[in-house]
Amino acid sequence: MSYNVDDKGFYGQFGGAFVPEMLYANIEEIRVNYRELLKEKNFLSQFNALLKDYVGRPSPLYFAKRLSQKYQTKIYLKREDLLHTGAHKINNTIGQILLAKRLNKTRIIAETGAGQHGVATATVCALMDMKCIVYMGEKDTIRQALNVGRMRMLGAEVIPVTSGSRTLKDATNEAIRDWISNPKDTHYIIGSAVGPHPYPDMVAQFQSVISKEIKTQLLQQTGSENPDYVIACVGGGSNAAGAFYHFLEDKNVGLILVEAAGKGVETDYSAATSVLGSIGIIHGSKTLLMQTSDGQIIEPYSISAGLDYPGIGPMHAHLITSGRAEVFACTDQEAIKAAINLTRLEGIIPALETAHAFAMLEKRKFDSGDTVVLNVSGRGDKDINTYLNNIQYE
Ligand SMILES: *Cc1c(COP(=O)(O)O)cnc(C)c1O
Repeated sequence: MSYNVDDKGFYGQFGGAFVPEMLYANIEEIRVNYRELLKEKNFLSQFNALLKDYVGRPSPLYFAKRLSQKYQTKIYLKREDLLHTGAHKINNTIGQILLAKRLNKTRIIAETGAGQHGVATATVCALMDMKCIVYMGEKDTIRQALNVGRMRMLGAEVIPVTSGSRTLKDATNEAIRDWISNPKDTHYIIGSAVGPHPYPDMVAQFQSVISKEIKTQLLQQTGSENPDYVIACVGGGSNAAGAFYHFLEDKNVGLILVEAAGKGVETDYSAATSVLGSIGIIHGSKTLLMQTSDGQIIEPYSISAGLDYPGIGPMHAHLITSGRAEVFACTDQEAIKAAINLTRLEGIIPALETAHAFAMLEKRKFDSGDTVVLNVSGRGDKDINTYLNNIQYE
């Protein structure tokens, strides 16, 4: 069995491109160009130069000694939190802005939840002198006001979306609507490994630099390029796809996904798609999603806006249902506790999304000889208010 995408854009039974006819030409234009582009010398040298000198790659792989002592195993942290703009999202936006340039687009649209993808998109648009419009649920513009400010300072137009639950899925719907109205000059930069083919594969490939670096760095630090496990949190699945990419077909490397359980999977306030989801189509892709028996999308909930999405990328739906990946769900409270724990042990304040991945360490025991790589998808600056409002100091 293969765990990567097939020629038709499927991961097992998941994926594909289920798009309105009006978008067919746009999706097709990207599909026929992206594979060529990703092999082209000129494109790759531009992409790699920007990742190095603008984004700050390679990000360090850090052996977390005190965290390792606590959990009695060997834990390495892949420090995507140290990148420009504070999260892994910038890897993908750099790749897609270069693609948009090549396709002679002049206008960029994006959706954003926590605002990290919006900031990463506004950043590359400033860098490349492109017009930038970011759709954001009105609710998220309030809870992530700092990122709204950053996007505006970068020159982007932030449009608060007031339909539906006024969160990420509504922002995505609005972005798709915009693209249908402006198919000629506009490129839609999707921020995760979701959406119609070829987006999940394209985003995974732009993020795959994460696992490529892990291999080189582990080889240098331990003498072996493969870890026993890689752990990543999953919203739509882009940081996990990047951290897993070069290990997908290597069964000796265990893959562990961590979802947001919100207030608990048994409550009405959760975003644990693998537990609560079933097969359906969302935003152009056949995947697992949270829906009612008649196909209405169920409102997800998580304290972290970046994990608050009712679906999961098709690659991850396949990894989970095939048994290739283990999956855990961690609650808001478990994530906050894990963030404090990491901060006090290692002096690293993680993003709330990433804190869910750390919370998983409480739920599964590793052997003392295991090498465990945890992808630190982002930093916690944007979440300080949430942390301070929820921390009870002893
Ligand atoms: C957006 C975000 C996530 C979730 O998105 P994925 O596509 O699943 O990676 C996780 N961590 C951080 C820091 C984010 O900004």
